[in-house]
Amino acid sequence: MSTSTKHNITRGGQFLVKETKSEDIFTPEDFTEEQKMMRDSVIEFVDREIWPNKERFEKKDYALTEEVMRKAGELGLLGVAVPEAYDGLGMGFVTTMLVCDYISGATGSVATAFGAHTGIGTMPITLYGTEEQKKKYVPKLATGEWFGAYCLTEPGAGSDANSGKTKAVLSEDGKHYLISGQKMWISNAGFASVFIVFARIEDDKNITGFIVENDPKNGISLGEEEHKLGIHSSSTRQVFFNETKVPVENMLSERGNGFKIAMNALNVGRIKLSAACLDAQRRIITEAVKYANERVQFKTPISKFGAIKSKVAEMATACYVDESAAYRAAKDIEDRIAIRQEEGNSHQEAELKGVEEYAIECSILKVAVSEHCQNTTDEGIQIFGGMGFSADTPMEAAWRDARISRIYEGTNEINRMLSVGMLIKKAMKGQVDLLGPATAVKDELMGIPSFDTPDYSILFSEEKEMIEKLKKAFLMVAGSGVQKYGPELEEHQQLLMAASDILIQIYMAESAILRTEKNAKRFGEDTQKEQIAMAKLNLFHAVEKIQTKGKEAISSFAEGDEQRMMLMGLKRFTKYANLPNVIALRNTIADKVTAENKYCF
Ligand SMILES: Cc1cc2nc3c(=O)[nH]c(=O)nc-3n(C[C@H](O)[C@H](O)[C@H](O)COP(=O)(O)OP(=O)(O)OC[C@H]3O[C@@H](n4cnc5c(N)ncnc54)[C@H](O)[C@@H]3O)c2cc1C
Repeated sequence: MSTSTKHNITRGGQFLVKETKSEDIFTPEDFTEEQKMMRDSVIEFVDREIWPNKERFEKKDYALTEEVMRKAGELGLLGVAVPEAYDGLGMGFVTTMLVCDYISGATGSVATAFGAHTGIGTMPITLYGTEEQKKKYVPKLATGEWFGAYCLTEPGAGSDANSGKTKAVLSEDGKHYLISGQKMWISNAGFASVFIVFARIEDDKNITGFIVENDPKNGISLGEEEHKLGIHSSSTRQVFFNETKVPVENMLSERGNGFKIAMNALNVGRIKLSAACLDAQRRIITEAVKYANERVQFKTPISKFGAIKSKVAEMATACYVDESAAYRAAKDIEDRIAIRQEEGNSHQEAELKGVEEYAIECSILKVAVSEHCQNTTDEGIQIFGGMGFSADTPMEAAWRDARISRIYEGTNEINRMLSVGMLIKKAMKGQVDLLGPATAVKDELMGIPSFDTPDYSILFSEEKEMIEKLKKAFLMVAGSGVQKYGPELEEHQQLLMAASDILIQIYMAESAILRTEKNAKRFGEDTQKEQIAMAKLNLFHAVEKIQTKGKEAISSFAEGDEQRMMLMGLKRFTKYANLPNVIALRNTIADKVTAENKYCF
């Protein structure tokens, strides 16, 4: 096995039932020299081309976004995920995440343009295109000669993406499809040369994907730029197709396969979106801390006040947790792709299946990181006080830009429900054994709890035990939900949302603990004092949330003795032997960040 596939990777969704060892996960501290060089050159690009122009991005300078995208193309940054055979850099999944992470930190306008082009605008062709389609379109997209956009959403078809009314009618000579319909909220529409368009053929159950070249003479017209809350220089327009002639050879994959293509492109889009919310957080934390160190009130820098320390610590913790989970999942995907290739899959097939396998983790990350980013920008404003509300400081735009991440690439509600829904489907298919562990939890609840006091002197021994217990809490809640409602569980959305919140907390908390444990083991515990504090602080929040969501779920479907037993179980599964001193943890973290005057992990 190659080095990249050495570690025992946890298969998609299995984190819940299989113990993951810290040495088996990838962390940002594992970046190779090549990856670090890539990161530094992206940071340098952003600091030169984007950050100093932040004001122009707020003034709807769409041309600037296009210019930055072209320059990114010249540097090869648009082709990191594209195989070398199609003029890309052919880099691994982790590197593609890294580029997406660092290029997105300065403004949501570039983040969106980059994500829409390299992700949903290009990936459907690299993942599903024929050799001819890939040769024709991908090199142009990889180099930035052409830009791509993705036309799925319609006025009547948003979350219900398969319900679109756009039609594709085969011409009499059988050589073309004539596409007619209205697409809306299309990112990059204003400067795209190629559209990935989803349309329905006859009365097909599922839509079909097409590659459509932008040609105004071919029945394609654009609406005006949308006036948006944020991402002001990201081009967002309606796209109208009026009997647009598309050669039959431009169909993507097979007839009726469009919904699958759309969803798989979104899986990649979701994990990349989580990456795109990382450097934004780092930069906001750094700006907020710099301000807090300079701003004096009551003859004291405000960074010295406990109320501000608490915010700084929570912001840094959220970002650290997000990095831990995003790169853990990215490497699992990369390794899975490598294993599939070793088994004889083509790169295309391996990538498709590799990402699809981790669709649950992709949804979890999309929700968790977009919400952390939103919260961090909000607290950033608060730290800046009145100045935070001013368009002259970076917080105001960051706050508005962050808002979109909870909406596109599938709203956070849809992704919450998907994460649990997909997990249950995997269990039904026998890909993840949930039933066995769920039954074991039930048996455990009937038994007498152990009153031993374990030895918690080893780093994270109590925390890791807690993670195992939290997994039991999820299995208890979700397992009983499935038992109670069977296929009708789908109708019980509030229960699914509660279960999904539990699931999200577990993955994120476990990732931060494993990253820190791995680093403590190799670099020494004393070098990880603040990271240990962050992992513990985050776990404390996770436990609190799981208690609340668990109670909400249990009380919705269980009554009397059953309810009492499950609530007792929940209490047992969320009980600390040694409650962490949350305030002390926050102080440790905030002191480090304010001393360094930046996000420093
Ligand atoms: C700036 C921007 C850029 C975009 N870029 C693109 C792009 O490039 N290409 C593209 O195709 N689309 C794009 N979109 C569209 C985006 O993906 C959709 O807006 C999103 O999927 C939600 O669809 P909708 O707006 O129709 O909301 P709706 O689907 O109408 O949802 C409204 C609310 O109802 C909730 N809801 C909907 N269905 C359910 C359900 N079954 N159960 C529970 N709650 C539900 C949602 O979570 C949401 O809170 C973009 C949107 C914006 C704003």
